[in-house]
Amino acid sequence: MTQFIRVTDFASFREHARMLIVAGVTPANVSLAEQDSQGSLFESPTPPRSSTTTGKRFSVPRKFVELAQTAAYHRDPSKWNLFYRILWRLVNETPGLLEITTDDDVAKLRQLEKEVRRDAHKMKAFVRFRKLVANGDPNSVITDNSVEETASGGDFEHFVAWHRPDNKIVKLVAPFFSRRFKGMRWTIFTPHESAAWDGHQLSYGKGIAKSEAPGPDELEAAWKTYYGAIFNPARIKIAMMKSEMPVKHWGTLPETELIDELLAAAPDRVDKMLSHVDGLDITSKLVPATSDLADLRTAAINCNGCTLCEAATQTVFGLGPTDATLMIVGEQPGDQEDLAGVPFVGPAGQLLDKLFEAADIAREQVYLTNAVKHFSFVERGKQRLHKKPSSREIAACRPWLDAEIRIVKPKVLVCLGATALSAIAGRQHKLSDIRGVPFSSPACDTTIATWHPASILRVDGQLSAQRRSQLQEDLHLAQSLGYMRPS
Ligand code: SF4
Repeated sequence: MTQFIRVTDFASFREHARMLIVAGVTPANVSLAEQDSQGSLFESPTPPRSSTTTGKRFSVPRKFVELAQTAAYHRDPSKWNLFYRILWRLVNETPGLLEITTDDDVAKLRQLEKEVRRDAHKMKAFVRFRKLVANGDPNSVITDNSVEETASGGDFEHFVAWHRPDNKIVKLVAPFFSRRFKGMRWTIFTPHESAAWDGHQLSYGKGIAKSEAPGPDELEAAWKTYYGAIFNPARIKIAMMKSEMPVKHWGTLPETELIDELLAAAPDRVDKMLSHVDGLDITSKLVPATSDLADLRTAAINCNGCTLCEAATQTVFGLGPTDATLMIVGEQPGDQEDLAGVPFVGPAGQLLDKLFEAADIAREQVYLTNAVKHFSFVERGKQRLHKKPSSREIAACRPWLDAEIRIVKPKVLVCLGATALSAIAGRQHKLSDIRGVPFSSPACDTTIATWHPASILRVDGQLSAQRRSQLQEDLHLAQSLGYMRPS
C-alpha cells in the first residue's frame, strides 16, 4: 500500500527519507509531495517507523546531498520522489549510481540541479533594486510592498526589487544578497515568495505580482546612464546577450529599455570610437592628394597606420587600370599575396580567375584590391594562418581604399565577403541578407556584396558548391551592369 508523505523542504525530505529507508519502504510504496494535492490521503508530517528495521544505519554520498539540496529548489513536483528513488538505489542497489551519467534518474537529478544553479546565477545578475523613501521605523522591513506601520521613526531608505525566477530560489539566493548589500535594507519580491534584509537578518514572506512592484525612480535613471556608458558597441553579440540576459528578464531591467536605441546607434558609435582612438589618423596623413595610382601605391609602401605592417612582408596594394569600370574589393592579402606583393594570386585568387573567365571578365581590366593592405595572420609552427583583421585595422586602412575608389571611380563595385562589405558600406548590412542584390553605397552607386572565394574553399560539399554558384551569378551580374570588355 502506498504511503503519502508531505514534504515542506529539503530538511523535511531528509528526515522522512531517513525514516523510510530505515523502515525498508521501497520507492514504489511511497509518494512524496509538497502540496497536499492528495487531500486526506497524505499522512501527517510524522515520519513512518518500522519496529523491525528502526536503528539500521546507512550512509549517503555527500555528492547526492549536495545535488539534491540544490535541486530541491526546482519547481518540478516530481523531484522528491526522484530523490527518494535515487537514495533507495544508492543505499540498497548501486552505491556508485551517481557515476552512471546515462542513468535516467541521475541525468534528471543533474539536470534539475543545473537549472537551479543557472536560475540562481541569473537572479544574482539581474536583480535591480529601486530606492523607496519610506516612513516609519527604519528597523522594520518591507514585507508586502508597503512598509510595516510603526509608531515611531521618520523617513528612511529601503531598496526593493522584483524578479521572476523559474524556480523557487529566493531562499537559496537571498544569503548572497545579504552579504553583497549588507549595509542596505532591502526586499526582493518574486511571484511566489520574497526575502527581506533589515541590515541584520533575513526574513521570508509571500510573493507579489509584478504589477504591484514599485515603479521607476532616480536609482533606475542612474543605472541607465551607467549602462549606456559601459555599453560597448564594438562587442555586440546579440545571441549571447539574449542567452546571458534572457528576454523574460528584460521587462524588469531598466537598462533593457535602452537596448534597441543603443543597438541602432552602434555602427555610428563604433565608427566614432575608432576615429577617436589615438593613431588611427596616421594613415590619413600618409595618403597623398594624388590622382595617380602609382603615387598612391608608392606612398602605401611605408604605411604604419596599424601594427599589421610589423609582421607582414610587404604592403599588397590594389592592382588594375585607373579607368577600370569594375572594382573588386576583398578582405586582405593571404600568405602567397604577402610574399608576391600582388593581390589575389593564392588559391582564392586562382578560383576567382576561373569564375572571371566563366563570367566573361578579363582580369587585367578589373581593379582588384583589399580592405586591408597587409597580411593579418597567426603563426602555427611554420605556417602562417589567416586571421581576420580587427575593426581598428580595417578603419586604419580605410583611407587607402577611399583613395583608390576616388581615383578609379568604378561603375560597379563588388565586395567579396563580410569584411569588404563592412569596410565599404558600414556594419549595418549582413552579407547573407543582401548578397547578389545591387545597392547604392557611399563608395559606389552600384555595389554588390557576395562571397569571398576563400570562404568557398574553407567549406565543403553542398555549401561550397552553392556559394561558388552564387559568386558566379554575382560576377555575371556585375559584368552585365557595368563591366565592358574591350572589343
Ligand atoms: Fe597601413 Fe593598412 Fe598596412 Fe595597416 S594594414 S599598416 S593601415 S597599409
